[in-house]
Amino acid sequence: MTHQIHIIGGGLAGSEAAWQLGRRGFKVRLSEMRGTGERSPAHQGDGLAELVCSNSFRSDDHEKNAVGLLHHEMRQCDSLIMDAAAKAEVPAGSALAVDREIFSAEVEARLAALPNVEIVRERIDALPADAPVIVATGPLTAEALAGSIGKATGADSLAFFDAIAPIVYRDTIDMDVCWMASRWDKGETKDYINCPMTKDQYLAFHAGLVAGEKTAFKEWEENTPYFDGCMPIEVMAERGIDTLRFGPMKPVGLDNPHWATPEHPNGRWAYAVVQLRQDNNLGTIWNMVGFQTKLKHAEQVRLFRTIPGLENAEFARLGGLHRNTFLNSPVLLDRTLRLKTAPNVRFAGQITGCEGYVESAAVGLMAGLMASAELAGREWQAPPRTTAMGALLSHITGDAEAETYQPMNVNFGLFPPLHDVKKKQRKEAYTERAKAEIVPWLESMAV
Ligand SMILES: Cc1cc2nc3c(=O)[nH]c(=O)nc-3n(C[C@H](O)[C@H](O)[C@H](O)COP(=O)(O)OP(=O)(O)OC[C@H]3O[C@@H](n4cnc5c(N)ncnc54)[C@H](O)[C@@H]3O)c2cc1C
Repeated sequence: MTHQIHIIGGGLAGSEAAWQLGRRGFKVRLSEMRGTGERSPAHQGDGLAELVCSNSFRSDDHEKNAVGLLHHEMRQCDSLIMDAAAKAEVPAGSALAVDREIFSAEVEARLAALPNVEIVRERIDALPADAPVIVATGPLTAEALAGSIGKATGADSLAFFDAIAPIVYRDTIDMDVCWMASRWDKGETKDYINCPMTKDQYLAFHAGLVAGEKTAFKEWEENTPYFDGCMPIEVMAERGIDTLRFGPMKPVGLDNPHWATPEHPNGRWAYAVVQLRQDNNLGTIWNMVGFQTKLKHAEQVRLFRTIPGLENAEFARLGGLHRNTFLNSPVLLDRTLRLKTAPNVRFAGQITGCEGYVESAAVGLMAGLMASAELAGREWQAPPRTTAMGALLSHITGDAEAETYQPMNVNFGLFPPLHDVKKKQRKEAYTERAKAEIVPWLESMAV
């Protein structure tokens, strides 16, 4: 099949872009290097849209939360990623979490069912000279292509770190010590497994994290900053004795029924808590929330087995540390994500400097719409800045400070401010405004 557009990278962004183009009838070649025997250091399988770390798409609340609003807008644009997430959903309180295997299989099946989308397992090593292409190769873009992008941009790409959290087999967790509950549980959702710690246990654990043997930095990694939402647990621990108790090990709102007394029939709060969240549909594997780490593997097993309830834990996957690469988009890309010096090349996903699964998919969705408009000879209109998609796009393509450009999750700080609205009502005001203002854009784009 001769294609009209080439998409490199079948991750979250590339798959979404291929869907948006393919369902509009354009002929797409989607090249994915996994399946050829090659994988990035973080990917574990060959399926499209693999989630490399957490299985969560974060909050699904579209009334008060920016990423929840982004979910909502993507659904209105017939997003493949959001549709597949709905098919693969697992319980996670107000968050949207998925069984990663079901999710990836659904994305692949839906794309494979489009006759005009050709999925090819191949590694691409260079940017094409003038044919239209969307580069969605992600934070772990293979080396040769990264070199070609470096040459085309003439700029140093930035690199920073991402760390992966360990995953534990459910049947190796001691439920006589741990208990199921969500924070401030009123009985209706008990989605997390909680491991309680006394003060002495916490202090010993904290000391173990700080002293534990870490993966050594390589020379090029010196002074490399961390991906914000994925800071290693031991780096957080180094920031202060209580940093973890106010972060991923926060005990508040978690009554431990094993510690119930006549005065506290529902149980008491622990000094610190380790939480695990269901990672697959079957409920057989659970990830340690916020426990991404660069501790050496043997050290992880030793230290994490000192957590009450995890004394006999078996790990389906241990934590790890990986490179991340992204462009200085505000300088290099135009308002439609095209390389200013080579407009046949459009970027999508995390490589543009957005941050997170949902944001990467959203930028893939917009890149697909931009390319569709271009191929159809129509003018592309950006979503209003007051929407989550518009705010994210504006940040990437011009609003962010080029000199200090860092990957960014969607958040209300990217939206035009609503100073006149009282702080308490502001989040709802942002989402209400976005929902009203996206309507004409959706109509104009005929999405
Ligand atoms: C280790 C790690 C952990 C992360 N954890 C989280 C998290 O917990 N939550 C979160 O929201 N975000 C997380 N992120 C950030 C980010 O959201 C994800 O990396 C996300 O998958 C990015 O989507 P993408 O489509 O841009 O890239 P990817 O999903 O990585 O897709 C890129 C695809 O391109 C392919 N590819 C690369 N080079 C080539 C080539 N030359 N030719 C052909 N194919 C190629 C890759 O095999 C891959 O399938 C993490 C990132 C990393 C690296």
